[in-house]
Amino acid sequence: MAFECVRTSPYNLKTDPKDVTLCLCCNTKLSLEEKPMRILADDECYSCRYQDRPFALGSVSAGPCTCEYKEVKGCHITCKKCISPRCIKCNRKFNCNNNCNKPCPDCINKEKFKKQWKQSTPAEKLKLYGVKKLRILAKRKKIKRIYSYKKQQLLEILLPLVVADDLPIKEK
Ligand SMILES: [Zn+2]
Ligand SMILES: [Zn+2]
Ligand SMILES: [Zn+2]
Ligand SMILES: [Zn+2]
Repeated sequence: MAFECVRTSPYNLKTDPKDVTLCLCCNTKLSLEEKPMRILADDECYSCRYQDRPFALGSVSAGPCTCEYKEVKGCHITCKKCISPRCIKCNRKFNCNNNCNKPCPDCINKEKFKKQWKQSTPAEKLKLYGVKKLRILAKRKKIKRIYSYKKQQLLEILLPLVVADDLPIKEK
């Protein structure tokens, strides 16, 4: 590419410098817009260099900005899909992070939970339930005075009793 300045949207878009036609993240056709861009002609000025320091220490004494800019041939590369991608599973919007071909973090976590659930023993599964569901199971197991127990106590009573058929615990 014979451009002196290339900007991308989203800013972290990964592109192949040898073939800027398809997005490396989602394989969508990229849109290229040639336009003049202003860039620093040289290093940033003395004052701007101090601006980067904590609390911009020293930038005031260094005086006003004297940075020089020049106009160059620029190119703006945009991936319309990666700017506001939707999850391939749940269709909700999420941030690209060069991961648009994978489901969103929420869907990945759900998938992980499902897998973990499948590999867990009934006792391990039981520990994932809240007190409401534990009471439902306790009732089924004919335990008396279920409302007098806290979650931890219910768990201790139920752990030796729970079998695979009890799970998942359904309301009715
Ligand atoms: Zn893309
Ligand atoms: Zn400056
Ligand atoms: Zn993407
Ligand atoms: Zn999703």
